[in-house]
Amino acid sequence: MPATPPRPDVPSPAAGTACDTDVLIVGAGPTGLTLAAALQARGVRCLLIDRLAEGANTSRAAVVHARTLEVLEPLGVSAALVARGLQAQRFSVRDRDRVLMPIGFAQLPSRYPFTLMISQAETERALLDRLLALGGTVMRPRTLIGLTQSDEHALATLDDGTCIAARYVVGADGMHSAVRGFAGIPFDGDRYDEAFVLADVQLDGGVPHDEVVLYFSPAGMAVVAPLPDGRHRVVATVDEAPEQPDAAFIQALLDARGPQRAPARVRALLWSSRFRVHHRIAERYRAGRLLLAGDAAHVHSPAGGQGMNTGMLDAMRLATALGRALEGDDAALDAYGAERRPIAQQVIALAHRLTRLATVPPARRLLRNALLSLLALCPPFRRRLAWQLSGLAYR
Ligand SMILES: Cc1cc2nc3c(=O)[nH]c(=O)nc-3n(C[C@H](O)[C@H](O)[C@H](O)COP(=O)(O)OP(=O)(O)OC[C@H]3O[C@@H](n4cnc5c(N)ncnc54)[C@H](O)[C@@H]3O)c2cc1C
Repeated sequence: MPATPPRPDVPSPAAGTACDTDVLIVGAGPTGLTLAAALQARGVRCLLIDRLAEGANTSRAAVVHARTLEVLEPLGVSAALVARGLQAQRFSVRDRDRVLMPIGFAQLPSRYPFTLMISQAETERALLDRLLALGGTVMRPRTLIGLTQSDEHALATLDDGTCIAARYVVGADGMHSAVRGFAGIPFDGDRYDEAFVLADVQLDGGVPHDEVVLYFSPAGMAVVAPLPDGRHRVVATVDEAPEQPDAAFIQALLDARGPQRAPARVRALLWSSRFRVHHRIAERYRAGRLLLAGDAAHVHSPAGGQGMNTGMLDAMRLATALGRALEGDDAALDAYGAERRPIAQQVIALAHRLTRLATVPPARRLLRNALLSLLALCPPFRRRLAWQLSGLAYR
């Protein structure tokens, strides 16, 4: 296996150093937490570190799909997630009050025929609870600042001066992954021009409480999705937006793009954010003893709500592969990348198509909506979209 060139500021592993752990996971977001819990459940020695003193409590990803709930079932977290989330049975594309494309999840061939709406903070809490119950923990705040590897092990250096020798190190450390950087794996792609505005609000008026609505209006796109406790998530693309949009900003978006007969009224703004989105994928998911999963391996637009889900599914698959590798089947780790990277490519392509559809220039929006209404007359098309959005297409 090719050794990563040593960095002068990082201690070199001494030949024959015993490993402190079998797997060191860098990053305790949804991907790292899922992986740590899955390894712990298998009895694999692992350590999980995160540079933050505590988990982020912001909403961010708000959807857990049917396929993710199926795959998380053996870990014992799906029931906890379902108990904390809200089951959205339908998804529709609308032009203000007119439904262009209704999509139902009730017929999905799954034990979870719905989209589960739940904040990322809640999802992470359920995963952490499970990890703790299995006897695991998160070491924080600990930042990875150096990483080398040899034939025997990988050696990680943390900001407190600790060195951890591990048989494998997993980068679940997000889009700006340090592990990916130390592994020298390119992260090719680009950035979307548009900014995304995201807000959790309390709404009155004409928005459903059991359905995710994607408004494709002449003034632009907006997603309005129900969350537990009577909240709604609003997502919209904008050219310019303040870093933390206020209630008036969100209200103006809803007035222009949302329902008209019974307009949605923002009663309270609970959280808001503006962010720019990239679509990128790691050239490979493995460099010797270093592996990537989640946003460290792939990022894309939030259209379709696939990001966090894809990361958790990577983690479950990687836990199996690491278990096999530790029993001597090293090829299992190559199979992990060979299986999961093409799926990430498909997810990025779907999110890209949805984003492009949502952001067509104003002159083409009426035509787009007319075409969508026509396609909606074709049940197989609607079924296929439900199949893809739920993640069941990647079974
Ligand atoms: C504002 C916002 C809104 C979003 N909205 C959506 C959405 O609507 N739908 C959707 O699907 N996705 C959304 N996402 C994306 C979603 O949050 C990510 O896909 C998901 O968090 C990825 O999980 P992850 O565990 O792979 O990485 P992350 O959640 O990024 O976790 C990485 C962890 O690694 C830690 N870390 C980083 N570097 C180091 C280091 N050197 N040492 C130690 N620890 C380190 C970080 O502290 C962090 O806890 C949104 C993201 C943001 C920021």
